[in-house]
Amino acid sequence: MPTVAVDLAERSYDVIVETGSLSRAGELISATGLGGRRAAVISDATVASFHSQSLIASLEASGIASTLHVVPAGEASKSMAQAESLCREMTRYGHDRKSIIIALGGGVVGDLAGFVAAIFYRGIPFVQIPTTIVSQVDSSVGGKTGVNIAEGKNLVGAFHQPRLVIVDPATLRTLGDREFHEGFAEAIKHAAIRDAAMLDDLAALDPSKRDVPADLIARNIAIKARIVEADEQETREIRALLNFGHTIGHGIEAAVPYGQLLHGEAIALGMRAALFLSEQHEGLPAQDSARIRKLLEQYQLPQVLPASLDTATILAKLATDKKFSQGQIRFVLLKAPGRAKVSHSVTQADLVAAIEHLRS
Ligand code: NAD
Repeated sequence: MPTVAVDLAERSYDVIVETGSLSRAGELISATGLGGRRAAVISDATVASFHSQSLIASLEASGIASTLHVVPAGEASKSMAQAESLCREMTRYGHDRKSIIIALGGGVVGDLAGFVAAIFYRGIPFVQIPTTIVSQVDSSVGGKTGVNIAEGKNLVGAFHQPRLVIVDPATLRTLGDREFHEGFAEAIKHAAIRDAAMLDDLAALDPSKRDVPADLIARNIAIKARIVEADEQETREIRALLNFGHTIGHGIEAAVPYGQLLHGEAIALGMRAALFLSEQHEGLPAQDSARIRKLLEQYQLPQVLPASLDTATILAKLATDKKFSQGQIRFVLLKAPGRAKVSHSVTQADLVAAIEHLRS
């Protein structure tokens, strides 16, 4: 079974990627030394309906007593109110500092449950069981947890690394088509910034078949893991490379009415804008840019802005983004496929040109 080790000294952990691993979760969790504890399984209503039974049966078979805590599906659950409500519910169910949290779901559940694990009794261990492509290739690894506030996404949170990540590619079969496709934006991003050969592997995969090879997921996790190991708390520029496509992408995501664009869809638009600026600033050859755009098309990711969206609204949302440090723009560009850099030379006028580029 492919296992990716994330080496962070005393916060190190394994990511196990194996089809069918959900039904072995109890055994895998016990093997990490967390076996004797009670578990609070946090999930959303959709994921719980498909996958919680199998998880809870496996925990029971390994002697891990658990309680199930279900939040509504969707980004709105990533809130302070929901985190508080989970802390209160866990307390009522008798959980304490000896308990563990198991996050079963996509990035929303992972970020929320991870945040609760970071603050409940000042921090308890947690296990990630990601069930979307986004969470399997990206958000379950790295220890960024948090919630949204009215002023912006992910503005409140904590670094809290999981003790184990269990990735079961079979869980992806129940995912809706749109959610399945959008997740590949993060895999295309990983290939673009770190692994040009993976662009070919992604091109060879037929997304209409729901079989995502475990080693493709493991390779994505390894890219993220190596970056996190080098820059665990994003104090250097290397972790910022993971923001390729995310600066303008986040601005677009925040500017559209809720639900109009999924995260990966907004990031796909942001990547197209970043490719445009990479050609201008870093001399990225047009054929390389076209190769990455072709992948976005293959995974049915949008490349043209919704017509109703004006540039000023996107720019206003961009200004509140954490990637603008003291008014300066930190923008990730590609020098070549697989080679990214953080640039400080992108100007406000460049941003406007890149957004306008997305109109046709
Ligand atoms: P999500 O968790 O909202 O899941 C998308 C939808 O798919 C939800 O409706 C969910 O109920 C459903 N779903 C999930 N798994 C399913 C399955 N196996 N079968 C059927 N339905 C399923 O969204 P997401 O795209 O996984 O995550 C997005 C979130 O991740 C955002 O909040 C983003 O900020 C966060 N994120 C965090 C990091 C990080 O490093 N912590 C990185 C990237 C993204």
